[in-house]
Amino acid sequence: MLNIVIFGAPGSGKGTQSKLIAEKYKLVHLSTGDMLRQEIAQGTEIGTIADALISKGNLAPDDLIIKMIGLKIDAHKKNCNGFIFDGFPRTVAQAKALDELLAKHGKKLTLMIDLHVEERLLIDRLLKRGLTSGRADDNLDVIKKRLEVYHKVTVPVLDFYKQSGRYVAVENCTTIDQYFERIIHLIEFSICGF
Ligand code: ADP
Repeated sequence: MLNIVIFGAPGSGKGTQSKLIAEKYKLVHLSTGDMLRQEIAQGTEIGTIADALISKGNLAPDDLIIKMIGLKIDAHKKNCNGFIFDGFPRTVAQAKALDELLAKHGKKLTLMIDLHVEERLLIDRLLKRGLTSGRADDNLDVIKKRLEVYHKVTVPVLDFYKQSGRYVAVENCTTIDQYFERIIHLIEFSICGF
């Protein structure tokens, strides 16, 4: 089983790369952002809570996110090659919970892949995406807040994975294909050690 966390700032291309990885390795793609947006679109109770937080650039509560991911792992674990976690974990508490959720099924996280993108590019990309995404959080004020939350609350997650030897980074790439090629190389290396 291949279980991968794709990590990075808002706008770093986590979603794009996750889709490509999921397709190549036949993994289940779990995006907590997509799950929350679905709850919002369906007008559920979780959606109402999430909407108020997301539209201001704040994170959803850990317990809610951990429960959501736990249910998805339970639902798919029997017949899948593994998972790609996109936008999760975003806090150290979530990272610890993910290890526990996988351990419950005798599984481990294979790799955490950190996508490095210059901050200037992130803001440009998110503003551009905002023109067509219809997302309430793709505007300058909320983008700044999301980046602030990322640095304060999410970046410490990197240390958690560095300490346990599961951290790899992809940097100095320009195109989607270039990022993907490097990611494949890192995944193959972690599987086969070459
Ligand atoms: P991006 O990485 O571009 O911010 P996402 O779709 O991953 O996009 O997340 C959008 C928003 O959803 C986040 O800003 C946050 O409010 C909420 N969210 C997504 N994943 C999590 C998570 N793991 N924990 C808490 N909040 C989350």
